[in-house]
Amino acid sequence: MKISCGQAADICNRSQYKESNVWEKLKLRLHLARCRECKKYSSKNAKLTTLCDKAGLCCLSEEDKQGMKQKLDGEA
Ligand SMILES: [Zn+2]
Repeated sequence: MKISCGQAADICNRSQYKESNVWEKLKLRLHLARCRECKKYSSKNAKLTTLCDKAGLCCLSEEDKQGMKQKLDGEA
């Protein structure tokens, strides 16, 4: 049932693109409840998603999204 920080980050990334299943999300949520670092990471991801939604950037390429993500990571 326990997952590592790396696995949590992976699920987090994939759920951003709606590629993770319910079971994975549940495990991720359990991990986030205990791990402060991953919680920080996931809220950063949520920030990125909100940003994309606002700007209507759903058509961005993966490359562009990565670029934006790096920008956000730089802020932290
Ligand atoms: Zn963690």
